[in-house]
Amino acid sequence: MALLEVKNLEVSFALRHGDLVALNDVSFTLDKRERLGVVGESGAGKSVTGFAVINLISKPGRITKGEILFDGKRLDQFSEHEMRSIRGNHISMIFQDPMMTLNPVLTVGTQMVETLRAHRKISKAEAEKIAIKKLELVHIPSPERRLSQYPHEFSGGMRQRIIIAIALLTDPAIIIADEPTTALDVTIQAEIMDLLLELCDAQDMALMLITHDLGVVAEVTERVMVMYAGKVIETAKTIDLVRNPRHPYTKGLINALPGHGECDQENRLQQIPGTMPNLTEIAPGCSFHPRCDYCQDICRSTVPELRQIGESKERWVSCHLVGKGQL
Ligand code: SF4
Repeated sequence: MALLEVKNLEVSFALRHGDLVALNDVSFTLDKRERLGVVGESGAGKSVTGFAVINLISKPGRITKGEILFDGKRLDQFSEHEMRSIRGNHISMIFQDPMMTLNPVLTVGTQMVETLRAHRKISKAEAEKIAIKKLELVHIPSPERRLSQYPHEFSGGMRQRIIIAIALLTDPAIIIADEPTTALDVTIQAEIMDLLLELCDAQDMALMLITHDLGVVAEVTERVMVMYAGKVIETAKTIDLVRNPRHPYTKGLINALPGHGECDQENRLQQIPGTMPNLTEIAPGCSFHPRCDYCQDICRSTVPELRQIGESKERWVSCHLVGKGQL
């Protein structure tokens, strides 16, 4: 049994003119200790998927269909009280901007101790001991002294390490990391990704890494799920997807990576023409068809199903042409 199983998930936002469907029939699994990448452009539904798993979709959004199972239990049917226990103890989420998570007027130590004591009946001294251990795990030097400092006294990279330490406080089984390095310098980005990898191995955690950066996914994850306009359009083992993308959108993402795609005559990287559609204006048929070089009549009228392609059980693609001798 998968540690996390999401089945046919639909998330809608109730707007004045009717429901806007932000996630449409999204299904995936995450095994113990597995590292899954969730990739796509801004507006693809990646972050909504992460928030849906921990039931933190802000109003007027809500789960309108589907199931979310953690360790066999239906999270989508949990009360807010039960979900708080899941979020604190079993699934942690890390966000792009550490200052969104850290309280600027409380010391790092106070924030860590309060977080721990909200979930466990332990003394302040015990909580401090655990906090120091977690700061050591994320390689913060002199952790005892650092506990009494405020977030602004740390660099951006150090603050992201503290966020990771806070996420580790209750030894979760899953870390959901939503663009955890986007706000950081390139050299610090690599350090934080290395740290996440090291911690997943050492702490036996599964990782769901949400990012627009396929390069990061290629380095860090074992399996990848590509999203477009609120749907999953391709899943595969990361190595297979990077070497041999099948969906035209995934091909476009790979071709846009430095060192992967062919360059045009002026030696520029290839780009996918157009932009991700506004969710209120999704085209009929395949939602990628207005941007697709291979578009045919059927693509404009019929939504392609997500189908298993080829030998690997992991490879699923949502395209009318893939696997039918045309793509
Ligand atoms: Fe392109 Fe058609 Fe495949 Fe959509 S279904 S990705 S439009 S070829």
